[in-house]
Amino acid sequence: MADLPRRAFVCGHPIAHSRSPIIHSYWLDRYGIAGSYTAIDVAPERFADFLAGLGEAGLAGGNVTIPHKQAAFAAVSRRDAAADAIGAVNTVWFEDGILHGGNTDAYGFAANLDERAPGWVQSRSAVVVGAGGAARAVVHALIDRGVGDIRLANRTAGRAVELAARFSGRISAHATEALPEICADADLLINTTSLGMAGDMGLPADPAWLPDHAIVNDLVYVPLETPLLAAAAARGLKAVDGLGMLLHQAVPGFELWFGRRPEVSPALRDRIVADLDRKK
Ligand code: NAP
Repeated sequence: MADLPRRAFVCGHPIAHSRSPIIHSYWLDRYGIAGSYTAIDVAPERFADFLAGLGEAGLAGGNVTIPHKQAAFAAVSRRDAAADAIGAVNTVWFEDGILHGGNTDAYGFAANLDERAPGWVQSRSAVVVGAGGAARAVVHALIDRGVGDIRLANRTAGRAVELAARFSGRISAHATEALPEICADADLLINTTSLGMAGDMGLPADPAWLPDHAIVNDLVYVPLETPLLAAAAARGLKAVDGLGMLLHQAVPGFELWFGRRPEVSPALRDRIVADLDRKK
């Protein structure tokens, strides 16, 4: 008997803005896989039942996004090392009939830099602005890739202190007032705050504070060129946008549900850029 088409999803609340269906549908088409990937709006009070009913509904797994990442972390039967380190699950799948949860954001972050700024792993020091969920994934990836000196700065300095305490290694926590000083000899600057999102002209840090060889990465990708990236490019620094992280974080999930490792190609990126442009 032929296998039934496999079905996957992204669930969140709200979910209409998600670009994940475009990414996974692109790959399903590209590789001629008979499957589907759809957005499902799940209110928080329904999330536990939704997750418990995945197998019965015939779903192979899916992505979990805001506000369900912590609930998924608690609900899955097994977690991968990244999910444990980050404290959130964004990808679920079945293995031997058991629901597993992983976190692919750290992978996506590092794979984006691998693609756009080869050699970035030589960075000895990185400044991370922000201390939310995205910052946790970034810090995990930086440690995993051997960046030895990580400096966290956040508007609410106490959250940077808490984040630093979650991880071992040389991680320091700072108030944002310290940014000029901690940027002065940094190899890498990553914005993980929401500053710079559509219409917001705020700069999380001034690229003028960085040395000439520094790489600047913004996780915000709407707009694609944020005020931070524009200022970094104007200063002659390597500027890497956040769209690649979104694309690369989708790779492991697709492979788990549909059995083929997909490629993050220029054509896929163009597809999402066209969607961003359309919704400007
Ligand atoms: P979060 O957990 O809510 O954290 C938000 C962070 O932004 C906190 O550190 C917060 O500081 C800071 N912040 C918010 N408004 C600020 C302001 N006006 N001035 C200074 N700091 C401000 O959110 P998250 O999940 O980490 O996501 C953060 C950003 O990353 C979002 O823009 C999201 O779209 C982006 N992101 C992108 C990808 C990707 O694939 N490219 C993946 C994940 C996230 P306080 O602690 O002081 O409130």
